Order: sequence, then structure tokens, then C-alpha cells
Amino acid sequence: MTSIAFIGLGVMGYPMAGHLARAGHAVTVFNRTAAKAEAWVAEYGGQSAATPALAAAGADVVLTCVGNDDDLRQVTLGPDGALAAMQRHALYIDHTTVSASIARELAAARGDLHVLDAPVSGGQAGAVAGKLTVMCGGTAEAFAVAEPVLAAYAKRTGLMGPAGAGQLTKMVNQIAIAGVVEGLAEAVNFALAAGLDAASVFDVIGAGAAQSWQMDNRAGTMARGEYDFGFAVDWMRKDLGLVLDEARRAGVTLPVTALVDQFYGDVQALGGRRQDTSSLLRRFRP
Ligand code: NAP
Repeated sequence: MTSIAFIGLGVMGYPMAGHLARAGHAVTVFNRTAAKAEAWVAEYGGQSAATPALAAAGADVVLTCVGNDDDLRQVTLGPDGALAAMQRHALYIDHTTVSASIARELAAARGDLHVLDAPVSGGQAGAVAGKLTVMCGGTAEAFAVAEPVLAAYAKRTGLMGPAGAGQLTKMVNQIAIAGVVEGLAEAVNFALAAGLDAASVFDVIGAGAAQSWQMDNRAGTMARGEYDFGFAVDWMRKDLGLVLDEARRAGVTLPVTALVDQFYGDVQALGGRRQDTSSLLRRFRP
């Protein structure tokens, strides 16, 4: 049994921490809004702590899954942050999608910890089902210690390179998704405008070369105008902001990604900040 601290019980963190408890680990949770931590303990057992530092003290493994760079800085390096409280040689894994620069900063913050940046893909459904993809940056030693822990909720893990490489890989993932979702939104809009039965259309073409995870999982819900689940538009804009910053630094242009980022700005203006990323269709069908 490993002693684990999990910080951030949001859409993703709540079920991920749950899988760790179900796998038999001793889990202590921290959540800024204490009611969520109390609900988690009522559901899974374990215990909750009043601060990230209290959760992290004495743990073999500390995990975070919060919102953005500022949030991560607060729970790790801020007053009552987790990092200073961790015992020597413990493992720190961050599942938040953040910049590669903060990932490198956290990896260098202490010389006596194993550290991995480990953003995930697979969405809320993947977290609940324990079938996430985890992209890691760090040392081979840290990755080897992490793998049996991540197995509780990962269907695929990979060590992509040194600190920051997990976040850079997640950026590649988001670039690849952005254009696909916009293409699917245009396809759904066209199918409906043409008077076709969307369910039949995507059932048939989903068996051909146009198939994608987005088509399999989102075409039907988009056609019905259902967006209240999954990966929030606000988080996608945060991710695309990280991508565009990194691309500028690398001297790479991302014209379609930049355009889709602006389209998500339109969806935010329509009130869709917490709606799923497939809500790009709302630009055509508000
Ligand atoms: P979420 O539901 O909004 O949860 C965010 C969590 O972070 C909450 O527990 C929140 O606490 C906590 N938090 C935020 N700011 C904090 C701060 N300053 N101090 C302490 N705690 C703070 O977000 P999510 O959907 O789980 O996503 C979490 C991360 O995973 C994000 O980086 C997101 O981009 C990434 N991600 C999400 C998905 C997805 O499908 N949802 C998929 C892949 C990656 P409160 O409860 O107090 O608000």
C-alpha cells in the first residue's frame, strides 16, 4: 500500500483519486472547496487535509490536478504549498495541463524529489472509466516509480522526454484536436442543413476514413445540441493559449489552431465557457 496525497478534486481529479483508493492505496485528499473533499471521503474512505502541505507531508506520492499555471503555483509553491512539505525521495506527479516552463520550474524546485509532468487525455469519461492516456516528462527513474501508481487510471502511459516533455506532448494533442472538432462542427451543420439524418450519416461515415474519436463520441450529441459535459471551453482556450505561446517561442506558425482558438472565443461570448469543446457547433446553431 502506498501513501498518496491527491490535490484537486475537480471533474478529473475526483474520479482519478477514487481509482487510487479503489486500488488499495491510502489516499489523503485536499480540495480548495472543502465540501468536495468531504463528499470524496464519504464515497471512497481515506481522509482529507486542510492544506496541500498537510496532505503532502509524509506521503510517498503527491499528485496535483488543478486548473492552470497560477493555480498550480499556489498549491505547490505558495503558502501551505505541497512541495516544501514533501519527504525526501518522494514522487511528485502533476496532471494539470500547464506550460512546459512551470513543469521545468517544479522539476528543479528541489533536488531530492522524483518529479513528473503528466498531463492526461481521455476527458471526464476516461477519468471515470480509468482509461486515461498519460504523457510524462521527467527522468526514467521517476517514470518507473510512477507507472504502478498511474496504472490505477491509465490505459496508456509514455515517457516523452525530460521535464516539460509531457506538457509539450499534450500541446501536440490539443493542436491535433482543434482542427478536427471544427471540421466535425462544419460537417454536422452541413448534414442537418441538407436534411440528412445525422445519426445514420455518422454511423456510416464513421466506419470509413472520416472516423475519429470526436466523431464516435461527439457527433450524435452535437446534432442534439448537448454540450453540458466533458472538457470545458475555458480549459481549451487555456490550452490553446499555452500552445500558441510555445509555437511563437519555437518560431512555428499554427494558422488553423489560432483560428479555432478565436472560434472558441465566440462560444465563450455565447455563454459557453463551461460547455464541452464540441460546442463549436453553436457558432452555426446557437
Ligand atoms: P475543474 O473541474 O475545474 O477542477 C479544477 C480543480 O482545481 C478543482 O478541484 C478546483 O478546486 C482546483 N483549483 C483550481 N484553482 C485552485 C487554486 N488556486 N487553489 C486550489 N485549488 C484550485 O477542472 P478539470 O476539468 O478537472 O481539469 C483539471 C485539469 O485537467 C485542467 O488543467 C484541465 O485542462 C485538465 N484536463 C481536463 C480534462 C477534462 O476533460 N475535464 C481533460 C484533460 C485535461 P475547487 O473545487 O475549489 O474549485
